[in-house]
Amino acid sequence: PDAAGLKWSKAPCRFCGTGCGVTVAVKDNRVVATHGDPEAEVNRGLNCVKGYFLSKIMYGEDRLLTPLLRKKNGQYAKDGEFTRVSWDEAFDVMAAQFKRVLKDKGPTAVGMFGSGQWTVWEGYAALKLMKGGFRSNNLDPNARHCMASAAVGFMRTFGADEPMGVYDDIEAADAFVLWGSNMAEMHPILWTRVTDRRLSGRNVKVAVLSTFEHRSYELADIELTFTPQTDLAILNYIANHIITTNRVNREFVDRHTSFRLGNADIGYGLRPEHPLQKAAKNAADAGGSKPMTFDEFAKFVATYDLDYTARLSGVPRNRLLALAEMYADPKVKVMSFWTMGFNQHTRGVWCNNMVYNIHLLTGKISTPGNSPFSLTGQPSACGTAREVGTFSHRLPADMVVTNPKHRAHTEETWKLPEGTIPGIPGYHAVLQNRMLKDGKLNAYWVMVNNNMQAAANLVQEGYPGYRNPDNFVVVSDVYPTVTALSADLILPAAMWVEKEGAYGNAERRTQFWHQLVGAPAEARSDLWQLMEFSKRFKVEEVWPEELIAKKPELRGKSLFEVLFRNGQVDKFPNSDIEAGYANDEAKAFGFYVQKGLFEEYASFGRGHGHDLAPFATYHQVRGLRWPVVNGKETLWRYREGSDPYVKAGTGFQFYGYPDGKALIFALPYEPPPEVPDKEYPFWLSTGRVLEHWHSGSMTRRVPELHKAVPNAVCFMHPEDARAMGVRRGTEVEVSSRRGSMRTRVETRGRNRPPRGLVFVPWFDASQLINKVTLDATDPISYQTDFKKCAVKVVKV
Ligand code: SF4
Repeated sequence: PDAAGLKWSKAPCRFCGTGCGVTVAVKDNRVVATHGDPEAEVNRGLNCVKGYFLSKIMYGEDRLLTPLLRKKNGQYAKDGEFTRVSWDEAFDVMAAQFKRVLKDKGPTAVGMFGSGQWTVWEGYAALKLMKGGFRSNNLDPNARHCMASAAVGFMRTFGADEPMGVYDDIEAADAFVLWGSNMAEMHPILWTRVTDRRLSGRNVKVAVLSTFEHRSYELADIELTFTPQTDLAILNYIANHIITTNRVNREFVDRHTSFRLGNADIGYGLRPEHPLQKAAKNAADAGGSKPMTFDEFAKFVATYDLDYTARLSGVPRNRLLALAEMYADPKVKVMSFWTMGFNQHTRGVWCNNMVYNIHLLTGKISTPGNSPFSLTGQPSACGTAREVGTFSHRLPADMVVTNPKHRAHTEETWKLPEGTIPGIPGYHAVLQNRMLKDGKLNAYWVMVNNNMQAAANLVQEGYPGYRNPDNFVVVSDVYPTVTALSADLILPAAMWVEKEGAYGNAERRTQFWHQLVGAPAEARSDLWQLMEFSKRFKVEEVWPEELIAKKPELRGKSLFEVLFRNGQVDKFPNSDIEAGYANDEAKAFGFYVQKGLFEEYASFGRGHGHDLAPFATYHQVRGLRWPVVNGKETLWRYREGSDPYVKAGTGFQFYGYPDGKALIFALPYEPPPEVPDKEYPFWLSTGRVLEHWHSGSMTRRVPELHKAVPNAVCFMHPEDARAMGVRRGTEVEVSSRRGSMRTRVETRGRNRPPRGLVFVPWFDASQLINKVTLDATDPISYQTDFKKCAVKVVKV
């Protein structure tokens, strides 16, 4: 402790995928302060306003403290009132319901929804319990709403997930292009680095593309407000401009890329020899393609000339040209950023592929400052959702359930009988809601997310499934969110530094923290909940006899013994925990749970391009970017001299594919699924605000943040407001063909939509804009488009 009696420790921020480091002060088992960690490379001592108030997120007045079960006359009842129960009673009822469903309908009727807010080992434990224990692939993360298109985009272009570049690119770039990303509000610390570079570098330029003006426009040298969905055409126009002005880097393109017609209805978008392609039937890492030549590609994009693209997009010709020149000029190092504007798009995978096209055509990739960079929203969207593989089609380290070799390798690592993991992808997030509603998914466990606020088309597709009398829905959370209150059983969760954790940020940086305080009352970590619940199932109750017969030594054992006391997860003693740090899970289970799970998980990626350092290393450092080989982190992947997996003499190797070549996809403009008409004359876009993180369940309980932005509003153009006879503060109803919500008009401030478009943030639980949104998904990634649908706005 310091002179004030405070004990300071390091941790990553609880909120966004930037992964800022903080130092956390603890006194009397309570977090009393946080600072931006000056030793953290990501944020260099800074925090945004959310990070600044981190110390208050755990202490909201309505923190969940005990399990709550819906009961009537002393018994569980779907229409009962939430009643305090013990953990034993909660797990008894929950286990009975899961067993009923498993017996009556089998593993496909059991499911789980998590997120990139799980720590690495929580996601890994959930993966083991669902896919290895209950034998159900119905496990999906909230990342489906957030990063699925980015993940599939990486897989298609490079054959491997996650960025090649790092945040260090910011200080080396000459130009920044924001494609559907409001970094000023959503990734403010990275935005300070971009701002520094823009204001201190010579001739550094920023281009911002969006369907409405927002705070990031304040730094823009080129503003491009485009008609929704026409980003697809703009991307092709840039490729066309690079080709027609002879600025293709032919040496790079000929050595390191090949071309595919990406929208053909054949195959799965990968080369035939790729292991995913061989077994990818129905896999989400899919999407048709066939080979083509450079000349055919050039002809394909030739349609997207300046006139056509300007007409379609509504962006002035000179701005489009200036943007295209940023990429085409061989002297300019370009960093492209994107988040939900690309990913929440019915052609989100294509958008991702098409921005890679531009970087590959010019060879502006994997070198300092040349960096197509996908930003993430959740603190461990990369670490837990993608790297651990908590998607319904995935396994750790980019493996998939559809590949028999991947399943066999996973079963062997987990010491499970061959054939345990099913080979068909489970229900993805949007399908989970539909299957709940249709009564095909009946036992459902939700952790670390607020899907009844976050999912699209809530009235028709969300809430009915939770309240379907055939279903038993469990929600583990910290506060009584909309989702928790829609459930049958609520389990109180420990959060952030109330447990030991690990997150993986957007630049492949894995960061650890110790448990620093105890959780209040009966709250328990998700890891404890998953492992404790697994004790309630004997293998005979969940597996068929023929599976048990393959490993008779497992007969009579519980899933806990099979999955977590398997000789490799439990081999690390409690004494490994550094002196002075608590670890409630280790105390409860008798071994260093986190270390065991991490080391088993890390074994999947070591030697396969996903190498993680030994467990103890991460508690000493401010994170390391994988692959970590011989103790050294990797900054630029796929480049000789930086990435240890690239062979000498090759220059670059995109080794996700056996021939080391990345794919350039020919993909067309495609109209949006719903457009404004006479009845619903406005475009609606949804999004976030700086002060609140996602659904606001934590930040709205911090008084300062709540007061700063207490409610959602409907941002609209002043001329549209005038034409409707409404003004700032007027109450309006925003409706679509699916539902409606009430809010107030805002014609000033941080968001300035063009005429014909309204923007409503979704953080406000009292004004659910997702009753209105459309649940159309990208057909390859199954990610929902929250950025465009048709609405009307009517004065109440
Ligand atoms: Fe950094 Fe994001 Fe946390 Fe803000 S919310 S401090 S940008 S990690």
